[in-house]
Amino acid sequence: MNGSAQSVAAALRDRQSFVITSHARPDGDAIGSAMALALALDSLGKSVRVVFRDPPPPPYRVFPAVDRIEITDEAGGPADAAVLMECSHIGRPEVAGLDRFFVVNIDHHPGNSMYGAVNWFDESAAACAEMVAAVIDELGVPWTEAIASHLYLAIATDTGGFRHGPISAGTFEICARIARTGVKAADLSRLIFDSYGIGRVRLMGALLNDMELNHGNRLALLSLDDALLAACDATMDDTEGLVNLPLGAHEILAVAFLKRQGDDVFRVSLRSKGRVDVREVAAKWQGGGHTNAAGCTITGDLAAVKRAVALALAAAIDAASA
Ligand code: 5GP
Ligand code: MN
Repeated sequence: MNGSAQSVAAALRDRQSFVITSHARPDGDAIGSAMALALALDSLGKSVRVVFRDPPPPPYRVFPAVDRIEITDEAGGPADAAVLMECSHIGRPEVAGLDRFFVVNIDHHPGNSMYGAVNWFDESAAACAEMVAAVIDELGVPWTEAIASHLYLAIATDTGGFRHGPISAGTFEICARIARTGVKAADLSRLIFDSYGIGRVRLMGALLNDMELNHGNRLALLSLDDALLAACDATMDDTEGLVNLPLGAHEILAVAFLKRQGDDVFRVSLRSKGRVDVREVAAKWQGGGHTNAAGCTITGDLAAVKRAVALALAAAIDAASA
């Protein structure tokens, strides 16, 4: 059964100790949602641990409270509940032992499997943090500047800087309240989007130089391996968000970014515009996400993976214009 901010808040209010987590390779929404809720629960005198399988991307590490994140693949010690955010199924955190807990599931990804004891799923939220904001209000916790800055991190990143997703009047109402706490939105956006190292800028050049265009310039493929990272003096952290670069051209409707993980294993990030549905493309390889931002892991040699992804994206582009 789908719940609400009220049912989630009731479950949290009744319990004292929590493990909060989100998906592996956390993005801004995963981190912002987790930390905002952690701070709110702290202020109610609850005991809260935040665990992630992977560290946050470097620019997000200066956000208040991010340094308390434990990097682990084992949920550990006793707690009255585990809160999973942004996870369509219980395996997404890639953290073992979560199923031992009373699970609270808060998510905005289509296809959530409602795996919790308490579930609240809302596809109309532009970021999971919109739902967290409602839970914090329901708990009666006032928004501090620290809570608000985490909510901003989540919303700014999950909408790609207010470019995609179900951005609504409610999104801007939350942003107005964020600004009233003293958060400087422009300063935070610079921090979130423009504070990587020069290696990332070199990497942008290399990726775009090797970009393959397909399907009448409507589809772009980017690919990356360790050799290219080394040549640019960049790291995997520097790749966050680069999948969006080709979307800067009006012709481009869909992008795939293939990151080699090992021999013949690729992490694939997919992005699109408008009705072009990349979630359906990711689902062909057991991945998921949203209409305009999705991901999956594909096994095969680079040429074959590129061909298969290009075919699937071309079909998605055709289906959207039909
Ligand atoms: P990204 O390309 O930034 O890794 O992911 C884009 C979106 O797709 C995010 O909403 C993310 O949660 C989702 N996503 C990425 N990879 C996977 C995956 O392997 N499985 C599922 N279910 N969702 C994914
Ligand atoms: Mn999200």
